[in-house]
Amino acid sequence: MSALKDSDREVYEIILSESNRQNNFLELIASENFTSQSVMEATGSVLTNKYAEGYPGKRYYGGCVHVDEVENLAIERAKKLFNAEYANVQPHSGSSANMGVYLAFLNPGDTILGLDLSHGGHLTHGSKVSFSGQIYNSVTFHVDKNTGLVDFDNLKKIAQEYKPKMIICGASAYPRTIEFEKFRDIADSVGAFLLGDICHNSGIIAAKKHPSPFPFCHVVSTSTHKSLRGPRGGIILLGKDYENPFKIVAPKSGRIKMMSELIDGAVMPGIQGGPLMHVIAGKAVAFKEALSDNFKNYIQSVLDNAKAFEKNFKDLGYNLVSGGTDTHLVLLDLQNKNISGKQAELALDEAGITVNKNMVPFDPRSPFITSGIRIGTPALTTRGMGFDEIKEITKMIDLVINNFDNEKVISSVKNNVQELCNQFPLNL
Ligand SMILES: *Cc1c(COP(=O)(O)O)cnc(C)c1O
Repeated sequence: MSALKDSDREVYEIILSESNRQNNFLELIASENFTSQSVMEATGSVLTNKYAEGYPGKRYYGGCVHVDEVENLAIERAKKLFNAEYANVQPHSGSSANMGVYLAFLNPGDTILGLDLSHGGHLTHGSKVSFSGQIYNSVTFHVDKNTGLVDFDNLKKIAQEYKPKMIICGASAYPRTIEFEKFRDIADSVGAFLLGDICHNSGIIAAKKHPSPFPFCHVVSTSTHKSLRGPRGGIILLGKDYENPFKIVAPKSGRIKMMSELIDGAVMPGIQGGPLMHVIAGKAVAFKEALSDNFKNYIQSVLDNAKAFEKNFKDLGYNLVSGGTDTHLVLLDLQNKNISGKQAELALDEAGITVNKNMVPFDPRSPFITSGIRIGTPALTTRGMGFDEIKEITKMIDLVINNFDNEKVISSVKNNVQELCNQFPLNL
């Protein structure tokens, strides 16, 4: 960063501080990760200079020969990684990918059905503060109070009552396997269309350690920066349904449009202008990495580490939503621990441990306070941490939670965090 250091000291110093923070804190936010040096080089490259509205071979601008090459590479690798027949790699984020899907297949006012935000769903699954709950008529299903698992009876009842045009499966804070097949059965029973939003699990799915959304989901969206460990961005995928006419007739020609055409048109020009070609190059690099055996081993460690958290926290008397995890995250319900999610997040942050407060199902507290915290393993695992470190980190979290207003305890934990981080440098 020598040019930046000379030209803009303020931004340079901020980036340096953030780099130090990433090095010296334990990153347990389930949606975060550390992408590779190669991904960062591609993302920081000259490709940021190029306008390329349109798609490979069909651009609105000249000079697109090389960005066409890189976008085609990203598309081919994404298809291979997820066994998909079609990929659109242009969405700027997971939310944009969802917005593209909605614009492609829904009309304003159509009914959509997604998992309640406070039960693990995402803002874009119909929350009233998001476009998804404002443009569309959103209704929600929930998890079972006793098991913490998706309540398929409730889902079926709501689906039959509201006859949604689209059902969304996938979540941001759901520690268990997404049962795509069961969702598809219910979608079929009411003639709904099924979107699999695999933002959180995409790395686990890519490594074939979580069931594939295909052939059950009609369309799949994901971000690329979570367990998949790529640059910040999104993609949309179609399986064998990609050639199906979605019974939308082009006004002029009277031709029936394919699902893939609808998605292409919805992403650009529907919701976006020029694609971020530097980020698309970063996605291509990340997809190649994710196709390797190394990545499979990495994801296995992510899952093993989450299981280790599950066991350690249970041994210490913690309640876990759904009783445990099948994925990269655990959700601690702190209602028996005399501390809110917000207090836990703040105290842990002071101790150098980064987590996020999170609603637990049927939470009596507000989303700003909450009764839980969400803990994920993708970032720590990328750093190389394993069983021994997870054990030590569990003890540190427990100590902070039990002594959240004790400065002395918190600063001694902070010292231990620093020692642990020094043993696993990030080399940022
Ligand atoms: C993270 C997430 C998103 C949104 O991704 P952004 O890149 O933050 O816009 C959408 N859906 C789910 C389920 C997510 O977890």
